[in-house]
Amino acid sequence: MAPRSPERGRLYRRCGCRRVDGRQFGAACPQLKGRSPHGSWAFAVDLPSADGRRKPRCRSGFPTRKAAHAALERALTCERTGLHGDEDLALAAYLTEWLRTMEETLKPTTFVRYRDYVRADLVPSFGRIALQNLRPRLITAWQEAELAGGRGRTTVYRIGATLSSALGAAVRARLIADNPCRYALTPRPAAQERICWNPTQAAAFLRHNHTVSALWLK
Ligand SMILES: [Zn+2]
Repeated sequence: MAPRSPERGRLYRRCGCRRVDGRQFGAACPQLKGRSPHGSWAFAVDLPSADGRRKPRCRSGFPTRKAAHAALERALTCERTGLHGDEDLALAAYLTEWLRTMEETLKPTTFVRYRDYVRADLVPSFGRIALQNLRPRLITAWQEAELAGGRGRTTVYRIGATLSSALGAAVRARLIADNPCRYALTPRPAAQERICWNPTQAAAFLRHNHTVSALWLK
């Protein structure tokens, strides 16, 4: 299936063959019109510039039209968002580096918990995925699998919160545009939010309520 046409830019085939004068044929090589595969896929796009003049950006060497299309989309995204992330940076490497930077700022107990979640859960589950390719549906699927496997809601929540914290740092570092955990993580389990009062606090609450009711009924 041919990928959807990008809003801006164009995809074409070009090659490195040269004319007699030494200049490249580019997209005009006669062999590109033949049936046998020749050259590679390329994209060209005009990026806006401050002086209003056309600033073309071209890249070639893609094996398929789809690969050229994906690279064009990335170029447009980077241009729009100012991101400068490495598209090959795997989560294993990113999370390890993030942990290293957190060691100095976190309380030791918090750091140990983050480190254990990163090593035992996040790297085995997401480590091979590129940071830029982590999607909410992958996080949702991981959560569902963990819960189905008998993992406690609170633990799954905490591991997810650790991932969210790491990805939030990636957003601030302009490595990714958005934190996919925002759209994927289930809310904190209700038991975590339940307020437990001691008898003195409970009595104070009841007294307060009584006072409020008394005022209201006057
Ligand atoms: Zn050629």
